[in-house]
Amino acid sequence: MNKISLITGAGFAGSTIARGLADAGHMVHLIDKRPHIAGNAYDEVDANGVLIHRYGPHIFHTNSDKVCQFLSRFTEWRSYEHRVLGVVAGRHYPFPINRDTLNQLYGLDLDETGASAFFESVREPRHPICTSEDVVLNSVGRDLYEKFFLHYTRKQWGLDPSQLKAGVAARIPVRTNTDDRYFTDTFQAMPLHGYTKMFERMLDHPNINVQLGIDFSELTDLGRYDHIVYTGPIDAYFKHCYGPLPYRSLRFEHQHLADVQQFQQAGTVNYPNDHAYTRITEFKHLTGQEHTGTSIVREYPEAEGDPYYPIPSDTNEALFKRYCELAEKESKVTFVGRLAEYRYYNMDQVIGAALASAQKILDSLSTIRRT
Ligand code: FAD
Ligand code: UDP
Repeated sequence: MNKISLITGAGFAGSTIARGLADAGHMVHLIDKRPHIAGNAYDEVDANGVLIHRYGPHIFHTNSDKVCQFLSRFTEWRSYEHRVLGVVAGRHYPFPINRDTLNQLYGLDLDETGASAFFESVREPRHPICTSEDVVLNSVGRDLYEKFFLHYTRKQWGLDPSQLKAGVAARIPVRTNTDDRYFTDTFQAMPLHGYTKMFERMLDHPNINVQLGIDFSELTDLGRYDHIVYTGPIDAYFKHCYGPLPYRSLRFEHQHLADVQQFQQAGTVNYPNDHAYTRITEFKHLTGQEHTGTSIVREYPEAEGDPYYPIPSDTNEALFKRYCELAEKESKVTFVGRLAEYRYYNMDQVIGAALASAQKILDSLSTIRRT
């Protein structure tokens, strides 16, 4: 017999599971407190007709065929390889650091072997590698650390790299070749008509009932659901009983520039050392849209506000583990997603986790008998 599930959060985690359960014949009540679907990947056409990402730039990249096949049911794609420049002392350099970065920054003419030897001569070997400071000093040494990483990280997280786990800075590779792509995944593309359109198609199923503008805490009849999926912040679910889990927030400053064909050379330009914002993204690079003007967004990191990033530190992970122990006792509830799992997930990792969760939920629903 068909079962009914409540899913809180219409981002990648919630929507992927919603579709998985609906395809298997179950009913889904999907809620989100925001007035739109797609979570932080939400995109929309701004007042000037440019497709923008309301919550900052979202670039899709994955090595997972499974994730790619799942999303490809709901969208066609536009090939796009993201490139980023980092501004140091007013000049733009390829970022992540590669051989061209070294040659341009230091006036050198290194080949690949020369670039390896350069890194070897400047790196500060660290063992064990525990923090983000360890990661960067160990690979590129102090000068590049201070020019590209230290101040960006302080701005982004309000913490020193030595206070953040290694995984944060380890997201950024260091290259001896001249590859200037931000990602090297086998599949790199943007949904041809945008993320929101892709979500609309994912959720367009007779078994899925979407209700927007409603908070989980407003629901009073949880007993009627066979299963509950929760993709919001895990500490909020438990009413912050052990104290709040820290999340980093951002303020997005969107701007349209009329009659400016192109504002900057690359999709994103990072400002490690100047300004209160970390980076500027120009959306037309990402979407390929043609328009007489252009729209950009500046990201200002903030301590308060909507939770966008879990903050990977030992202290925070210890607190998260305490909430996990409570979560394990909620046998009817699945916690999944970037906020519920307190993991610095990319979109494809969330979808991968959600596909696996959907399968587990289907297995458990098949054992429930309705009274
Ligand atoms: P979310 O998208 O946050 O969705 C959770 C939803 O739950 C939200 O819509 C929220 O409103 C809702 N919710 C929460 N609590 C409640 C409640 N109590 N009641 C009702 N609804 C609730 N990933 C990439 O792969 N590439 C990128 O380029 C990239 N860029 C990013 C840039 C920024 C600035 C940020 C912040 C993230 C970026 N990401 C990127 C990561 C990506 O946004 C996430 O991995 C993904 O969106 C997480 O999906 P989710 O469903 O777990 O969470
Ligand atoms: N980072 C940095 N300088 C940069 C870009 C990134 O120091 O120019 C560090 C910073 O700590 C950042 C982390 O690397 O938070 C991960 O960067 P990424 O671009 O992956 O962050 P996201 O896109 O998730 O905000």
